[in-house]
Amino acid sequence: MNTLSHTKILATVGPASSSPEMLEKLVDAGVNGFRLNFSHGGHDEYREIVKAIRNIEKRRKTPITILQDLQGPKIRVGTFEGKKKHVLKVGDIFTLDNDKTGGTAQRVCLPHPEILEVLNIGDPVYINDGVVKMRVKDKKDGAVICTVEASGTVSDRKGVNLPGVDLPFSAMTNKDRKDAKFGMELDVDWVALSFVQRPEDVLELREIIGNSARIMAKIEMPNATKRLEKIVEVVDGLMVARGDLGVEMPLEEVPPLQKRIIRKCREAGKIVVVATQMLESMTQANTPTRAEVSDVANATYEGADTLMLSAETASGDYPLEAVEVMARVISRIERSVAWKPLMDARHPNVVQNIGDAMAHGAYQISETLDISGIVTFTASGSTAMRMSRQRPLQPILTLTPEIKTARALSLAWGLHTNVSAEPETFDDLVPLATEALQAMELCGKGDNVLLTAGVPFGVSGSTNMVRVVTL
Ligand code: PEP
Repeated sequence: MNTLSHTKILATVGPASSSPEMLEKLVDAGVNGFRLNFSHGGHDEYREIVKAIRNIEKRRKTPITILQDLQGPKIRVGTFEGKKKHVLKVGDIFTLDNDKTGGTAQRVCLPHPEILEVLNIGDPVYINDGVVKMRVKDKKDGAVICTVEASGTVSDRKGVNLPGVDLPFSAMTNKDRKDAKFGMELDVDWVALSFVQRPEDVLELREIIGNSARIMAKIEMPNATKRLEKIVEVVDGLMVARGDLGVEMPLEEVPPLQKRIIRKCREAGKIVVVATQMLESMTQANTPTRAEVSDVANATYEGADTLMLSAETASGDYPLEAVEVMARVISRIERSVAWKPLMDARHPNVVQNIGDAMAHGAYQISETLDISGIVTFTASGSTAMRMSRQRPLQPILTLTPEIKTARALSLAWGLHTNVSAEPETFDDLVPLATEALQAMELCGKGDNVLLTAGVPFGVSGSTNMVRVVTL
């Protein structure tokens, strides 16, 4: 019998993993989806990678998610003249201005006049991934004069973070807009939006891509955390982007925030991905640190839908080993005594609608009877997402006539998606479910399984039936 994990794995594609052979090995090792990081790589390259993933999908007969991650408006300083690197020491004065000439040890251009404008005295300004920490001391003739509070090196085009400052621009640059359109051409399943600050940022992307893909907001700025409830309402998923979050806020704030975001997403029935540095040391070593294993375990215990690998699979020396370790840790944790009680401890309240009451009822039955598997029939994905939100112990086989739904939901906790014929009547459900369960070796003869669907089929949000069937 197949024992499939509930928690999913998303792997970032890069030079270490972009060959069709390696992509296939990663799928065999447990990857459910691939992230295309549009901060790197060109369109032609991504076209080839998408083709290779779709070929693997056909061969393996298993839907694979493709997530396009847009670069977003990363703020960077300009370039320096002569000596290209300068060490700034605590107490030094360093100015950011609009002067395009090369920078010195005293100043550099910040080629975003609108940001120079909104910065106020007392605001924090970080350069080089938060290594150099400065605070605005004064503003003069359009320039921002800062005092250095933590020393470090500045050099050409280093990234700038302005924690907590409301930035007067959208989360999309012209490059992102072009990339999003290219993503539609590639038929990606998810688009992740970087540096989201407000729900309006998400709506702007929705205007461009319509319903061609689901939208994931990357939570990496404190401003987004202030508006989390509103952002959750307009997205299909969130990513806990711990890389930038750890620069934008004190590191010790990231774990509680991770818990809060996971909880919010589960309450809302949206997908949540935990990202960055999960097995970072495996970029250079074939075994992880104990702390990294604990991090993967902790995110699994928290009930995240998906765990993401970044540099580990994109550019590391051990992409396959990193996926294997992650899959092994997830599988072990999901068999541990503490796992199920932790999943249940945060059981979401039932929403007062028929679909949610049905999912809750199905969950109660799955806890009461000896149930080996749950089958959801879904067109848009809403019946399946409601079941996933309940976090049952049994695998949830999700059957849908829509390949896009099957692909997108393969990042959802516990859902094992498959394309099937559309059931016309209630009686069609049983043979379709039996056939799929047996093909996936999820259940055997004599097992009890739970079926849930919305009948008539194909109407989004109409979940209205639960049935127990003995195979
Ligand atoms: C992050 O900051 O954690 C993240 C996932 O975003 P990126 O890798 O695009 O910086």
